Amino acid sequence: MMAFGNMFGGRSKVESPGVEAIEANIPNTQLALGGPHPTFPSSNASCDANPNTMMLSRGFASRCADSEYTPLESNRFREAILGSGHTFKNADEFRNAIYQMSLAGRFQYKYNKNSPTHMSVKCSVEDCPWKITAHAVEGNEILRVYTYQVNHNHIAQDECSSKVRVSSKRGAVVVEDVFRTTPEYLPRQICKDFERDHGVQLTYNQAWHLKEKAKERVYGSPRASYAYLPWLCHRLREINPGTIAEYTSHEGHFKQLFIAHAFSIQGFTMGCRPVLAIDSCHLSGPYKGALLSAIAYDADDGMFPLALGVVGSENYEDWYWFLEKLKGILDGQEVIIISDRHQGILRSVSELFGVENHAYCYRHVKENFSSFFNRQNIRGKKGKEDALLLLDNIAYARLDIDYNEAFEKLVRFNGDLARWVAENSPEHWAMSKFLKKRWDKMTTNIAESFNAWLREERHQTIYTLLMMHMDKLVAMLDTHMRGTDKWKSVVGPKTEENLMSNITRSAPITVMPYLGGTFKVFTGEVYLVVDMQQHKCTCLTWQMSGLPCPHVCAVIRTLRHDVYDYIDPCFKVSTQQLIYSGQFQPLPTHNMPKVCEAGTLQDGQGNVFPSLQPPQVRRPPGRPRQKRIESQFSHKRAIHCSRCNGIGHNRSKCNNPLP
Ligand SMILES: [Zn+2]
Ligand SMILES: [Zn+2]
Ligand SMILES: [Zn+2]
Repeated sequence: MMAFGNMFGGRSKVESPGVEAIEANIPNTQLALGGPHPTFPSSNASCDANPNTMMLSRGFASRCADSEYTPLESNRFREAILGSGHTFKNADEFRNAIYQMSLAGRFQYKYNKNSPTHMSVKCSVEDCPWKITAHAVEGNEILRVYTYQVNHNHIAQDECSSKVRVSSKRGAVVVEDVFRTTPEYLPRQICKDFERDHGVQLTYNQAWHLKEKAKERVYGSPRASYAYLPWLCHRLREINPGTIAEYTSHEGHFKQLFIAHAFSIQGFTMGCRPVLAIDSCHLSGPYKGALLSAIAYDADDGMFPLALGVVGSENYEDWYWFLEKLKGILDGQEVIIISDRHQGILRSVSELFGVENHAYCYRHVKENFSSFFNRQNIRGKKGKEDALLLLDNIAYARLDIDYNEAFEKLVRFNGDLARWVAENSPEHWAMSKFLKKRWDKMTTNIAESFNAWLREERHQTIYTLLMMHMDKLVAMLDTHMRGTDKWKSVVGPKTEENLMSNITRSAPITVMPYLGGTFKVFTGEVYLVVDMQQHKCTCLTWQMSGLPCPHVCAVIRTLRHDVYDYIDPCFKVSTQQLIYSGQFQPLPTHNMPKVCEAGTLQDGQGNVFPSLQPPQVRRPPGRPRQKRIESQFSHKRAIHCSRCNGIGHNRSKCNNPLP
């Protein structure tokens, strides 16, 4: 930065009043193109290079600088254009710099000429000599400043009535620096900072737009990011062979995307239990859509994402497409799918994975039950707690006999609630009714944690989302893998805890050996049978969860055996090591493809990728809802949509197609 400032060492001459600088011999084209922020010399550097800056009369704020007035932060933008000969990458960067100068000097300006090749800006105050012009450098979009006359001549009234224009596009440049380091920069904070730093009051809406524009400057436009998808899919498959990265399109518009990294596929097939939680969540970029995910568990119930999808909606068609791809990577292996009861999921899972392999998330069932309860006229808060407890007993009963007993209790409590249970497919969620082994996984909580984990990425453009997600995914996998070193035994801490609890509960159980490896155990109430050779207990816990139940633990203690020998291998450290044994190569972006004429991409190897447009956002079926004619006395503020600029709805309700 020092070097940059020094290049303008001769500037004080240029700035002397009345002299219109016409020198254009500053060879800084390289710098303007090379540096990350050629238009942002740091205030220190420019002060060092030119200590007189603050003394020059260049607007209201600086004229007050030597009184008790605190200089505004925007003073640094005073130097956004350094002088005649300063070059800019393109017309837009030049316009940004002009805007920053107006922010710093608090004046309004107008363009007399505003074309990519010829710019002429002057102060809006009549007869004020402030003027900057710039011309395109021969055959290039680079602009070089020509005229640089930056002294104002204002009377008091000009200052009084001057008000800086708020432009979301230009202002975004101002917000950008903060946004880069603080992506969660809130619009409210932007309002405060703008007032403090630049003396400009923004509405919340304006601040929100500033942030969106800054986001676009940092991450690229949401629209353009779709163009890179075909290339990205190709590269993902190329750098990590075995990766499935596919998309579909309709008439050149993006439709669906599926990604399963080779590392995840390998880890899942090598060692994860065949249970997958699937879920969806909304994407909040301008093209919206939904993120679908399939999440597995590692050997100690750590989150192990297997596949990710981006689709337009969450209808049957999209779910079917996603699940069909998912099935494709499982190579015939049978899996249990856990999900909520979304119609699109119900149908596609039963078609692709078999209805008997579909477990419904019990938490969702419980929520539905709870809202059904609220619609009944049952008095008292205690009543609801009791009802939910009865439902838990029904859901977690392992044996039919226990299920029936719990169900009878609910019948006696309230017949309508019991009928609700019977009518809401308990065979898909109650433990005793769901016959397949699902390792005691009852909910989709792990998939929801995944969604929450991706909260920040869900606001990004599709390209940034995938790139950010990949880094984050690898970081998590790495943490899990390293965590294995800290395991105190052959199983992880979560398994250890479950096992410990079963052992504690085994204390009062008495054991009587029978013949052929079978045992009769007495719980204090009933007799059960444990078969140590078949790994079975009457209570079914051992068979269904893979962990010895308290009854089995009691037998193991009597036999003085090692409890870890009776744990399913899927929980053991050797399995965990298999799950995390793959390689995951990072994706370099030094060789990004070039965008060609028709929107197609071409990479360094000469591969050409088809052009891909953003998804077509469909109108909802049916007639658009008529706007209510408001009373002329109504002072209600009109709702404004920041997505489509329409009136009468906000961005979360917006379904309008984008251009
Ligand atoms: Zn002026
Ligand atoms: Zn048991
Ligand atoms: Zn809208």
